[in-house]
Amino acid sequence: MLKMSGKTRLVARLLSKLFMSLAIGSITILSLMFIKYKFVYAVEVNNEDVGYVASKLALEKRIDDYLVNGESDNVGYVISNSRLKYELMLVEKNIETKDEEVFAMVKENSDVYYKVYAVLVDGKEKGLVGSLEEAQHILDSVNEKQADYINKSTVELEEKYLQEYELLADVEIAINEIYEPIKKANTVVEIKTTPAASKTVSDDVLYALRDNLTSLNFNVPVTNYIVSSRFGWRSSGYHYGLDLAAPTGTEIRAAESGVVTYADWLGAYGYLIRIKHNDEYETYYGHCSKILVNVGDTVEKGDLIGKVGSTGRSSGPHVHVEVRYQGTPLNPEVFLYNN
Ligand SMILES: [Zn+2]
Repeated sequence: MLKMSGKTRLVARLLSKLFMSLAIGSITILSLMFIKYKFVYAVEVNNEDVGYVASKLALEKRIDDYLVNGESDNVGYVISNSRLKYELMLVEKNIETKDEEVFAMVKENSDVYYKVYAVLVDGKEKGLVGSLEEAQHILDSVNEKQADYINKSTVELEEKYLQEYELLADVEIAINEIYEPIKKANTVVEIKTTPAASKTVSDDVLYALRDNLTSLNFNVPVTNYIVSSRFGWRSSGYHYGLDLAAPTGTEIRAAESGVVTYADWLGAYGYLIRIKHNDEYETYYGHCSKILVNVGDTVEKGDLIGKVGSTGRSSGPHVHVEVRYQGTPLNPEVFLYNN
């Protein structure tokens, strides 16, 4: 053990006393300081002093959350235009902090892009809705309404991010408004509602029908023939078919597969065969000398169904061919020579 002299002991005691009073003094000063002062962050937004905030951490977290999620469900993304700078400071305790105001300022300085869905019809925007469900409902409804049309419109959805927009007020009304022009553009509908045999169709409809003919591909029903009369106006009236002149007895073959719907005499047609190919298309073969099928027979494309003759109102051996769409005669040449 170290042996101290009396003098040394005195110095040690004095030093220890000094340390004690220094420590107590520091604590007292610090305590007094925190009664009067507090730590805050001085904030600059885009190089402009805006005051103090109590908690940098809480404010930053709130801003991050706002930028990621926005304040409502349909916010796509938020771009902040605020650059914040913080400086830790000790200020008098009664100085007010402005956390709320700084957050409001950041919001004010942000560009909010909302996620909406545009409904496009043939590439043209018809309106906006706020949810994918609504958009899908419009698309499905319009497609259902135009399901039977030949000239279908293309309905598509497009995700959009917009700062300002106006949503369609009523989805059901919107569906009708989108559908009406499509309905009008589909002249084919007129054929459906007025299937009178004496009607003809415009060239636009005729070629649209042909272009939409995917499952049927008609063949000319006879070989070694000459066209003796075309579809259209004649001095005797409107000619609803194509006359193919060939010697009596020439084989007539089904232009396309189908079911025989008529196989008998019919006035000016003489012996007539009709074949239904689907719910819309039927072909006629008139003036036959022989009918080789019966009503209800299923025939394949190219099957022998009858023979050329000159029965009914006819000036010589030929087959009168008609192509009908929902009962309306179409120009057969457009369909028979389409391959
Ligand atoms: Zn004819």
